[in-house]
Parts: sequence; structure tokens; C-alpha cells
Amino acid sequence: MTSRLLFLGPPGAGKGTQAQQLAAARGLLHLSTGDLLRAEVAAGTALGLEAEAVMARGELVSDSLVLAIVRSRLEQQAAVGAGGWLLDGFPRNVAQADALKTLLDDLGQQIELVVLMELDDGVLLQRLLSRGRTDDNEAVIRHRLEVYREQTAPLIRYYREAGLLQAVEADGTVEEIAGRITALLD
Ligand code: AMP
Repeated sequence: MTSRLLFLGPPGAGKGTQAQQLAAARGLLHLSTGDLLRAEVAAGTALGLEAEAVMARGELVSDSLVLAIVRSRLEQQAAVGAGGWLLDGFPRNVAQADALKTLLDDLGQQIELVVLMELDDGVLLQRLLSRGRTDDNEAVIRHRLEVYREQTAPLIRYYREAGLLQAVEADGTVEEIAGRITALLD
């Protein structure tokens, strides 16, 4: 059974919704760096204070900060045995993808599948505008889409060349999209 996977795609493609459902259905750890960072901000931790302004601008927080979060979660998960996980919103650039590879090598684990959720910019913008998160005003959204194209989209090629990438069309109902994703899994 596919139990080590990651979701790639622009902000607003529905990664969080799909990741949450799939992880629950398969008993995987759902690791969303965006959710974890928002929790740090809400709790007012030092890490949250460092991340808050960067997130509000729609830019990426530092690789070292995100990696520290991911490393501790994946190490904990490896320690409990089953060790399945679904990464959502991480990696966000090639440096993070390289660091993830090193971390997984250390844990004796491998990514089994990368699901790319694809959607038009126009639809993304509408979805993000209707979501009402504090980093979801139009100027910030446009910037996040730009950051995605410049820093995250190169991962499409990165994982395609590694033979791990499968793309799904991310329009339609939540159930339709979930069906397309499930069809890719063992
Ligand atoms: P998300 O919920 O994935 O859209 O993430 C919300 C915000 O958190 C992003 O716009 C970034 O500022 C920050 N963030 C989330 N994941 C990462 C990551 N892997 N690397 C850097 N910044 C991230």
C-alpha cells in the first residue's frame, strides 16, 4: 500500500482538503507545514513570531525553520513503527527537496509517489479569494502564485525525472478529485 507520498501544486488547488481526507482514510501522518506554521503563529511561539510577517507577505519562511519542523515530525513517526506519511506544502523549493531526500536516506525511507494537483490560475484566484485566510487578499495571493511558479514549480520536473510524479486535474467536486487521486495509489 502506498504510504509515503507528497502533494504538490499551487496554493488553492485543494491539497489540504485532499491530504487530510486521504491521510485519515489510510492512517497516515498528515504533515502540512502551512498548518504547523499557523499553529506556531497562533500560539505566539518564537518560531511563530519569526514566521508570521513572512507568511503575511506570501513568501516562503526559511528552509532551516521548516526543515526543523519536518525533521522532528518524521523522526517521531518513524519511531512509532508504521511510519506512513503524507507531506502537504513541503517541499516548496529544490533545496527543501534535496534536504528531504537526505533526511529520508537517514531514516531508510523513500518517497513512493508525488501527486501533482493541477488547476488554472483563474480558478485558483477565485478559490483563494473565497477562503478568507489572513494571507488571502488579492495582492498577497498573486504573490503566492508567483512564488509557486518561481520556486516550487521546478519540483515538477525534479520529481518527474525521479520517476515519482503523477498529475491529477484538480477541478470538480472534492469526491471527484479524491477518486482521481485514489486511482493512483496501490
Ligand atoms: P500553505 O498553507 O501551504 O499555503 O502555507 C502558508 C504559508 O506558510 C506559505 O505562504 C509560506 O509562507 C509558509 N509555508 C508553508 N510551507 C512552507 C514551506 N515548506 N517552506 C516555506 N514556507 C512555507
